[in-house]
Amino acid sequence: MAVLSVREKLAILSDAAKYDASCASSGSTKRDSLRSGGIGSTEGSGICHSYAPDGRCISLLKILLTNFCIYDCSYCINRSSSNVRRARFSVEEVVKLTMDFYRRNYIEGLFLSSGVIRSPDETMGEMVEVARRLRIEERFGGYIHLKTIPEASAELIEKAGLYADRLSINVELPTDEGVKKLAPEKRPETIRLSMAKLRRKIEEKAEPTMQSRRRERFAPGGQSTQMIVGADKTSDDGILRASARLYGSYHLRRVYYSAFSPIPDSSSSLPLQRPPLMREHRLYQADWLMRFYGFSQPEILDGSNDGMLDLAIDPKLAWALRNRGRFPVDVNRAEREALLRVPGLGTRVIDKIIETRRHRRLRLEDVGRLCHSVAKVRPFIVAEGWSPGALTDKAGLRQEITRSCEQLSLF
Ligand code: SF4
Repeated sequence: MAVLSVREKLAILSDAAKYDASCASSGSTKRDSLRSGGIGSTEGSGICHSYAPDGRCISLLKILLTNFCIYDCSYCINRSSSNVRRARFSVEEVVKLTMDFYRRNYIEGLFLSSGVIRSPDETMGEMVEVARRLRIEERFGGYIHLKTIPEASAELIEKAGLYADRLSINVELPTDEGVKKLAPEKRPETIRLSMAKLRRKIEEKAEPTMQSRRRERFAPGGQSTQMIVGADKTSDDGILRASARLYGSYHLRRVYYSAFSPIPDSSSSLPLQRPPLMREHRLYQADWLMRFYGFSQPEILDGSNDGMLDLAIDPKLAWALRNRGRFPVDVNRAEREALLRVPGLGTRVIDKIIETRRHRRLRLEDVGRLCHSVAKVRPFIVAEGWSPGALTDKAGLRQEITRSCEQLSLF
């Protein structure tokens, strides 16, 4: 096999990593590296997130340690039977690349994943070694996200948590049946067990110790996972049900949704086309409704016919149109929980409304100045001098709002 240069490896292994959506650096806390003589910081004006044309975050050095893999998951470009060009970084190469890019301010951190080489422990051991060298030998203060391998030993996962800001284990597909069909060598119960262990460890280390009264640093950005959307027939309702279970059972910080990308020479059990990117976007919006807007998972698609999110309008507006009896909501009197249900009002806008109404009553124009589209909010609120009357129940309301929002987006 030809010897590849680091540049060639980088081209192969960064391209191979682009299928992983879980690379946002939210949830990290600052390593006080500057004061302790280390290099860099994860906070402050240096943090930037950029996005590739397909919407994925590319602010980190996002690479695989290797795209060789002993597994044969049919949706994956790096599966053992795939005919792709292979490469493998050494630990030294990843450390050097990361530090070179970091010193030049090209990146704020590292997202490292890998195919499984020889054994889960061997692969995980190398990934942990990259993180250890960065933190201990190079005094790297940037963000580190390590993708962990569910079958790796508990000791290695524990070490990973000492050096990484965030750990993630991919559930891959929303249902056990999907995993069994498309990734038969993976065991959903092993993935869940690893997530449960990681949750326990994160919680255990978050408690102050008896002796030092300090919390030990262990994956402060928590754990996350990624689910592939559209590789099997699971509906959006099924996907959101799986997410709700993951948030509830393992206290994940994030579930990332990654629209399936068709791969060359793929199995006949896979779709030939990728699902619309808007489906991924609507799932993220629905996910936010569960995490920040007080919606339960069954509510989001309650009353929809096919268990799929409406691609034309956002899930909060879709819910409000199906539940018009809950509106209008009085912006000058309603509880925060009721305001969170109003289409077009985000959490920050609601905080401002609550703050403002302590001093004076809000009119529709005041709300309009705070939010993006008053046309979206108008039918669902009462304000000083404004009542929507029959507008809330108007038959053509959906079209009316969509039209105004489209016109707005033209300017
Ligand atoms: S284990 Fe990971 S890298 Fe290997 S084939 Fe499966 S999804 Fe791809």
